[in-house]
Amino acid sequence: METKKQIQEKATIWLNAHTAKLWGDYYEIFPKLVKFNPPKIVLNNRLTRTAGRCFQTENIIDLGAKFFGKLENRDTMLKVILIHEIAHQIDWNLFGESELKCGHGKKWCSIMVQLGLPANKYHSLTI
Ligand SMILES: [Zn+2]
Repeated sequence: METKKQIQEKATIWLNAHTAKLWGDYYEIFPKLVKFNPPKIVLNNRLTRTAGRCFQTENIIDLGAKFFGKLENRDTMLKVILIHEIAHQIDWNLFGESELKCGHGKKWCSIMVQLGLPANKYHSLTI
């Protein structure tokens, strides 16, 4: 039997590989991203209300580990929440300082749309 910690370590490795792959795919849409490393994904056990958050200056994305607990949430975590947070990192990498304050501004919205998602600020996941 694997411990919870081992499962989480494996999931973290997978999430980082998945994100690196997405990041490479996004070069086609945003060629400037080639200059930047993909964000590092951390599974955070303390996040309860927030499914994800992005520390843009550190290039780190925290995802709430608890949200992966429910099977029906997993798809949303990967296809919506992760992409939402990656869009914040792209926003920062491409446009810099101005994007820290405005968060879900016009540029972030435009990035979301280019990544194929509606520019929704909020999610409706439950744990
Ligand atoms: Zn956001």
